[in-house]
Amino acid sequence: MWRHESPWRRDEQADRPGAPVSRRPGRPADFVLRLQASAGNLATTALLRQVTPAPAPAVSPPATAPPPRRLTKDEYRFTESPRLFDMTYRPVGPLPATGTATVVLNIHVKFKDFDPSMMRRQEFLRHRWTKAQLAQFAWPADKKAEWVGKFSQVVTDGWKEKFAFKLDRPGTEKYRATCGIEVRHVADPAAANTVITAQWIPPGAPRLRPSVAGDRKTAELDARDPVEAVHTEVPSFSVVRQIGPFRFDSADVADVEGPVKEFVALVRRLRRPGAPLAGPPDTVALGATGRASSPGPTEYNVKLAGRRAENVMNRVATETGLDPGIAIFRGELNATADPKFRRVDLFASRQPQVGVDQLMAVHEAGHMFGLGDEYEDDNPQDKRFAPNFSGDKPAHSDDVRAEVGDEAADDLVKRNTDSIMSRGSAVKPGHYVYFLRAMDSMTGEQWTLG
Ligand SMILES: [Zn+2]
Repeated sequence: MWRHESPWRRDEQADRPGAPVSRRPGRPADFVLRLQASAGNLATTALLRQVTPAPAPAVSPPATAPPPRRLTKDEYRFTESPRLFDMTYRPVGPLPATGTATVVLNIHVKFKDFDPSMMRRQEFLRHRWTKAQLAQFAWPADKKAEWVGKFSQVVTDGWKEKFAFKLDRPGTEKYRATCGIEVRHVADPAAANTVITAQWIPPGAPRLRPSVAGDRKTAELDARDPVEAVHTEVPSFSVVRQIGPFRFDSADVADVEGPVKEFVALVRRLRRPGAPLAGPPDTVALGATGRASSPGPTEYNVKLAGRRAENVMNRVATETGLDPGIAIFRGELNATADPKFRRVDLFASRQPQVGVDQLMAVHEAGHMFGLGDEYEDDNPQDKRFAPNFSGDKPAHSDDVRAEVGDEAADDLVKRNTDSIMSRGSAVKPGHYVYFLRAMDSMTGEQWTLG
């Protein structure tokens, strides 16, 4: 959507032998001087020949390779809409010199005190308020500036320099750039990429569920989000596949023979020596969540979903030599009439689970950068939030596949993992997708991660 055509790619079309010659306007003189200084007269002469079209010769001259193209601007700026973030890149190079690209998140923070009306929100309905908590509804004055500093620091540390950008295309000099992150507080909300409401919650009260609006222009965070991490247990490695659809009212594994066979083959590959699920059978857990589409009585659908889960589980356990694991009967919970819900969400995961910590502020910053959620929660308590089914694609999945590649996209399937957009803190290659797009957009080139 934000992507524009690379001007250089259009030039390549025009430069094809036999194609009409349509040169872009002459390059600035300082570029010629810099090229002369760095590459010598031969390259400069070749460039000047390009700039000043000569009369067409009667006989084709011997083919001489043009000098590799270089990035010509001192600084590139990402200015395209929607501006979820700003980004600048000052090329240093070509390789081995490495430049820096900087993602800038401009925030404006509004500090909101707690108030009695908030007690009716889902998060606090079961909480018994103490006297001390009731006496601490206001933001402590000295904590406000500190909050902005902490938010900026954890977002910067959480996102910077996880991957580098690489330009390595035929006919172009090679460039490399690291990715810095800056969070800037702007006084004017209209100048911010995201306006954050930092909600004060009395100490010891339940956490507010933070959120970023769909357009990324506003966000609501708990005052503790940049400071107090949320701890969760997740498998260190897992795979999940949605096995379906079954025929209506059927729990017959024959309906889903293809996906079951694929899953069995996948688990066998992953259990080979040295692979992520290798080892004794008791270090790998199978899990199956049975589902049903919404038509039919709810109670009946729970049983139907259970038969689907158990049938698939038993078949996979037999064929992989693993023990049958826990089967969960979800029935038509949060399902629609869509046949895709006639399925079993099937897991194989490394045991025991490992503890991961997440600073919610760092996760929410991922939303501000344009990413969706990857954790699994098929029944959110707060109905303002849509359910996240395990095995579903996150919102950024197709963009990751197009820009970063299949492996990065396949790694980002909704389930509970150490990923920053799931339950942990790990920034994965696919999470740089929109930074990578901004690099392409700014420079008119096609960058990769590396
Ligand atoms: Zn989220």
